[in-house]
This record gives sequence, C-alpha cells and structure tokens, in this order.
Amino acid sequence: MESKLDVPLVIELDPDWIPAGAVPENFVSYTLKHQEARPPVTWSNWCREIHWIYFFIFCVLPMLSLIAACSTPLRLETAIWSVIYIHVTAIGVTAGYHRLWSHRAYRATKALEYTLAILGAGVVEGSIAWWARTHRAHHRYTDTDLDPNNVLKGFFYAHIGWLIFKPRRKPGPADVSDLKSNPVVIWQNKYYIPLAFIMAIAIPTAVCGYGWGDWRGGFVWASLIRLAVGQHSTFCINSLCHWLGDKPYDDRLTPTDSLLGALITVGEGYHNYHHQFPMDYRGGYKWYHYDPTKWFLWTCEKLGFATHLKYFSDNEIHKGELTMQLKRLHRTQEALSWPSEKSDLPVITWEDYQRQAESRTLICIAGFIHDISDFFDKHPGGSHLLEKNVGKDATTAFFGGLYDHSHAAHNLLAMKRVGILLGGVPHGSEERVVPPSQHLRITRHSDLAGIGSPE
Ligand SMILES: [Zn+2]
Ligand SMILES: [Zn+2]
Repeated sequence: MESKLDVPLVIELDPDWIPAGAVPENFVSYTLKHQEARPPVTWSNWCREIHWIYFFIFCVLPMLSLIAACSTPLRLETAIWSVIYIHVTAIGVTAGYHRLWSHRAYRATKALEYTLAILGAGVVEGSIAWWARTHRAHHRYTDTDLDPNNVLKGFFYAHIGWLIFKPRRKPGPADVSDLKSNPVVIWQNKYYIPLAFIMAIAIPTAVCGYGWGDWRGGFVWASLIRLAVGQHSTFCINSLCHWLGDKPYDDRLTPTDSLLGALITVGEGYHNYHHQFPMDYRGGYKWYHYDPTKWFLWTCEKLGFATHLKYFSDNEIHKGELTMQLKRLHRTQEALSWPSEKSDLPVITWEDYQRQAESRTLICIAGFIHDISDFFDKHPGGSHLLEKNVGKDATTAFFGGLYDHSHAAHNLLAMKRVGILLGGVPHGSEERVVPPSQHLRITRHSDLAGIGSPE
C-alpha cells in the first residue's frame, strides 16, 4: 500500500536551513541572501528555461482549441453542459484544492474529499499536493521572491509566467506534513494523470456524445475550451486578484477585493479579505457576496458532508475594515490645513491685546486672539458686528449671545488665531476652545504624548 507521498516539487521546511543561533531578523531577506537563484531568463537561454509541457498545456492547447472551435458549431445542450461542468470542476479547485487542502478551512467527509479531489483533477492544474504546497508558500511569502507567483514580477508572470518558465528560486518553505499523511491526497497524486484525462477529456466529451450525439462539440467545447477557460479563471486569482480592486483590510500587500474577480474565479475575488483571514471558509464574508464556493460549503455542512467550518468573528473583520477607513481618513485629514497649535501661539496679556487691537482688527473669543482683518468684509452678519467687538471678549456673542455660529464659522474662526490670552484658554469649555472639525481627530499611536519616549 502507498504510504508515503512522493512529490518532486514539494520542498519541506528544513529545520537546519538557518544555522542554530543565527535567528534572522527577516526570514525572507535572510533566505534570499543565502540561497542561490537560477540566472535570469534572457534571449540566449529562454529555450532551455521553458517548461515545455506546461507551455503546451496552458498556451498551445488553448490556441489549438480556439482554432478548432471556429469550425465546430456550438449546440445549446453542449453550451449548457459546458457552463455547468466548468463550475463543477472549478468547485473541486476552490472548495477542495484551495479552502480544504491549502487552508484547512473546514473538515470534509471522505466522500466529499474524494469528490473534490476527482473534480479538481478536471481542471488540470497539477495534483493537490503540488498546488496546496505552492499556495501555502504564496500566502506565507506574498509579494517576495519566495512567493512562487509573485505579482510584483508583473501580471503575466503571476498569471502564467511562473508556470511556463522554470522558477528562478525554490518557493519558500511551507509545512505540508498534514498533506503527506492524507490518504486522499496520496491517492489523487498516485492516479493524477488518468484522473485528469478522465475528468478533463473523457467525461465532458462522453456526456455530449452519448447525451445528444455531439461528440466533436463535446470534445472541443465542453472539454478543451472549458478546460482553457477554467484554468485561466483560476490563474486570475494570482494575477487579477492581486492587481485590480480595493484593499479594505490591509494595503501593505497586493491582494485586492473585486466583484469582477469574484465573478471570474467562482467567488475567490475577495482576495484582500482572504489574505487577511486565510482559514475562513468564506471568500466574501457576507452571505450575499458572490461566492458560490461558500454557498456550496454551507450546503455541504447542512447535508452533513462538511463540518467545523471556520470563520473569523465580525468584530475582528470590522476592526480590519476600520483600520483602513481610519488610514484613508487620516490621509484626508493630513491634506487639510489646521489651526495653529496652542504651543505655537504667543501668550498675550489683556492689556497687550487691547493695545494691539488699536491698530489691528483683533477679536478675543474663547481665550484665543484672532486677526480677522481679511474677513472683515465677508462676515455674513455685516462688518459692524465685528467692528464693535474689536479689542473685546466676544466669546458670549459668538456662541449665542448675538448669534450661535455654525460649525463652519467656528472652524474658520480657529484658522484666524494669532495668540492666546494669558489665563484665558484654561477657563474656556472644550466645546468652545476646540473647533468642531477637531472634536474627533485621528492621531497615530506613535504621536501620542509619551508613547515610546524614554524621557
Ligand atoms: Zn493571493
Ligand atoms: Zn489562499
């Protein structure tokens, strides 16, 4: 009986890779520095650096299929079957290869595991063992040279280039011990080639042939064209879903959320979310987010085929969203002009204020001295109201005595500050001292007084 998985492309986590006592500050930079890379692909060596078998499967075959499709009529039954079959086999990859075996997002009964392993083979993207191993490295080393499909090397590289060209480096280490002892993964790895042929070619063709006599259409449309579309839709997870869309949870790395990505990849397009919460069985966490894989797994749970569906709490998800919302608001806040800080303003005595007000249009409100000379003619209530308060304390008049000014007026007034009245501000209520635009402010943790300062 087969008891050990032998996958040439699997590189195990080597505990001796980093010498004892030499704990690196950053594992990726340490590994990149000490591990040899293959020379770059150039015009003189590209021929030797191409994986020709992958080049044939992912590039030549789709081209030949397109040519064949031009001379093969598409019957309605074949078209419907092709759409159904592309989704059914894609579920093998999204629910099986990705969420079950790469991320352990739930537990599946043996019946479901075998079903997903068989369906996944129909997309011809390698065995579960190879796929999950490279995907774990992708998550662990995203956007670095240890990420096998690093999108920073370009859209084409992340989409298909990383498969066509021999990798310049081994993917970063990732623990696959659970996969190496999984009997379904071992079984699929052993029989992968016949399984792939049966699921990708034989079954879709036979259904059309025996079903409605369309053998040629079944082979060209349901088998070959469906295969190419299915493969490139999955490849979009590595390219499009790291390229186009929003970053609602973390903008330090490339993964993005987009409805287009979700539509193309059977629900994997909420990729910014996925990279934040990779063990969540959901791609889009709200029930109505387009994610057929999530709906499929939810149904499997109700039918008893899947258990222990993992998901992150709404509290942590909303915390992630809030972090990015605050970051965006902070950028907006930083782009605006704000009143001078108290510490930057000169402290002026009452006598000094009155003396200076004889030659300047100064008004004292809530302990601050304001120079309103450039606003004199723009005051909606008329300049005479300003004129009669020059050199006086107009706090009460401003806050309702004469007129209860708007937020905008208070914000604008604060921009006119030129000094602080000695002993004036401490007696003003916060409501009057702080303009409305500054009642809530976003402050970096490191900017808070005393944080991190050794005194
Ligand atoms: Zn990704
Ligand atoms: Zn993933």
